[in-house]
Formats: sequence, structure tokens, C-alpha cells
Amino acid sequence: MPLDIDKLRLDFPILAQTVNGQPLVYLDNAATTQKPQAVLDALNHYYQGQNANVHRAAHALSGQATQAFEAARAKVADFIHAPDARQVIWTRGATEAINLVALSFGMQKLKAGDEILLSAMEHHANIVPWQQVAAATGAVIKVIPLTDNAELDMTAAANLFSSRTKLLAISHVSNALGVLNPVQTLIAMAKAVGAVTLIDGAQAVGHLSVDVQALDCDFYVFSGHKMFGPTGIGVLYGKRALLEAMPPWQTGGEMIKYVSFEHTRFGELPFKFEAGTPNIAGAIGLGAAIDYLSALDRCALAAHEHQLMLQLLAGLSALPEVRIIGRPTAGAVSFIIDDVHPQDVATLLDMQGIAVRTGHHCAMPLMQALDLQQGTLRASIAFYNHAQDIDALLLGLKKSREFF
Ligand code: PMP
Repeated sequence: MPLDIDKLRLDFPILAQTVNGQPLVYLDNAATTQKPQAVLDALNHYYQGQNANVHRAAHALSGQATQAFEAARAKVADFIHAPDARQVIWTRGATEAINLVALSFGMQKLKAGDEILLSAMEHHANIVPWQQVAAATGAVIKVIPLTDNAELDMTAAANLFSSRTKLLAISHVSNALGVLNPVQTLIAMAKAVGAVTLIDGAQAVGHLSVDVQALDCDFYVFSGHKMFGPTGIGVLYGKRALLEAMPPWQTGGEMIKYVSFEHTRFGELPFKFEAGTPNIAGAIGLGAAIDYLSALDRCALAAHEHQLMLQLLAGLSALPEVRIIGRPTAGAVSFIIDDVHPQDVATLLDMQGIAVRTGHHCAMPLMQALDLQQGTLRASIAFYNHAQDIDALLLGLKKSREFF
């Protein structure tokens, strides 16, 4: 059955509004996605009918809240094919999940001369925590460079792996270039030298089916808000033996088994890494987003997104003054317009109700490597975008061009 996008769009009430007197054209999905009514309802349902703290009190509401909270964890485990829900740690988002690994694993296990391998297209969230680790431990950061097409230079990557490489931390899909990285190959290269692998899936989970066991990565991180769930909730998946061996990174309530003034025994996985009252509503909302996505034909959604990407790339390529950066394949397209500052174009687009993002996209080293001092314009899609959104953007760009 073909997808009825207009019908699906009704599930996202925010899309029906006008902005600056024009129908909203939301093409900033790489920054955050919109939420279906099912997610909004789940948040409301929890706060209206179940609000209580989890894992604590012996009363009915707390039992219900705990049950819903842990059911959401199990949904995440299923969604990414994790073998066990105890390997799903709640965090505030991808950023916090990377910080958790950096502080708990990186600070403990890395030492002077060890190498951390990143890529030139990483988000700051997958750079800065490792710089902190390097500064504290004496580990060294190495960077996989780009080819002329702004893809990862896999020959250079192969040469960078050595017995000194202890960690590979790399994005599954680049937020700034919309390129799907060959993570499977990179993980295999890392394994061959005994390095631990972390995949930043922030831009992948909303577009692709992710199977952490097939990838065989050690850690996988993502944020709920980029896959139709609420902000403030995210996930660290980790291999059990690694997580078991890692010390807690934050301490306090919820993460303990026993406390005296002399010593503390920490809780088991996943609670060992979840100090304090968690984002209960956020987790339940993310569970609802997974239910929503799982009820759809994800292959059909991916095919529809692929069509939108082709339409966008063809339309942009037909505009002589536009230069597309790299070879985008998933979710986002970065481009620049000759002689015009991206921010000026974005302002004109906004006046037409079209939401895109401009700037360095939290990837300043990438912009430096590509010599894009002013950053780029980025249009990023989700499955609820329709062909009219792309038409509106292309027309908006033409109008902006006339303006300049
Ligand atoms: N990594 C990538 C590739 C991202 O796109 C983002 C968000 N833009 C992050 C990490 C950080 O996600 P969050 O801000 O939700 O923690």
C-alpha cells in the first residue's frame, strides 16, 4: 500500500500551522523532529494519570509509573535490537551519553599515548568530550580526513588504525553533510586492532533501522528528540561486559544497593548509571514514539524520504548559483549560494514560512576542513515532509536570489 503522507501529517498537529502568514515548511528535522499526537498523548497520560516516582514507593501509581518507564526501556532495546534492556541506559541525549562513556570509560581506561580516532565530520558532541579525556590522560586524538567529495577517506582511515588505537568514535550519519558513513567497515577495522567503538547515531535512528548486534559496535548513542520523541531523553547502549566493568559516572540516589557512611555498593545495570530521579515522562514519550514508528512501514518511509532527497538534490542542482556540499544520502543536505550569506537566505526563507538551519551545525572543524567560513544552509527532511515542502524551498530560494 502506498504511503498516504497527507494522512500521516495529520498525526503531527504542529505541521498544520502558518508561520509569517505562510504554511509552515519544516525542513530543520536534523535539529529536532516534530512529535506525533501519540507522543503528546503519552506525556499527558503520564502526568495526568500516573505521575509518581519510579522504583521507590509501595503504592499503585509508583508501580504504574515504574512499569511504563521500564516498558519504554524494553521498547528501545527492541528498536535497536539490543540483546537485553539492561544494556539500555537513559541519558539526557546523545551528548550526555557520549560524556558518560568519555568520563566513565575514557578517563579510566585510556592512558598517555593511546589514540582516540574521530572523523573530520564529527559533531562537537563527539569531539569535545574526547578532548577532555585526552587532556586528562595524555591520550592523543587522530582524525580521519575527508576525500574531495567530503566523504570519509577510507584509505587514510585504514592507515590511521594501529595497536595504539584504543577507541573509535564516529557518527553513523553526519548532521552537517547528510552522509551515511561506512560504520560497519570502520567497526571491523577497529576490532582488528582491539579498539572499542562508539557510534553516534543521533542522525541515524530517525531514518534507518539500527541493529546494534549486526553492527557489533561497543556503544551506540542517540537522542529521543531527533526520532519524534521528547527532548531531554536519550540512550546509551553498551555491550554488557564493558558496561559492567565501567564505574558510575554520577552518584547519589537510585544508583545504589546499599549505603553507609563508610561505603556504598552500587546498583546493577542499568541503574548504576542512572543517579537521581530520571526523566520518567521523557522515557515514556520515547517509548510512544517507538510504538508510533513501529506501526508504520519503515521501508516505505525510507523510500519516501529517498524520493524527497532525490527531488531536493535535483532541484538544488538545477539552480546555477547553488553548490551542494558533498554527496548527501540521508536526511540532510548542506549547500551554499554564491556571494550570499547563508543567514540572509535563511531569514528570507523564514519570511516565507520555511524553516532551515544555517551556520556551522556544531561541526566547526568540518567547516574549517571544507573552507566554509560562513557555514552552510541545511535543509533536513523527515518522513512527514511532502513534495510540496521541497517545491516551496526551491521556489523560496529562487525568490531569495531575485531579492539579492
Ligand atoms: N551528534 C550528532 C550527529 C547530532 O546531530 C547531534 C545533535 N545535533 C548530537 C550528536 C547531539 O545531540 P543532543 O544535542 O540531542 O545531545
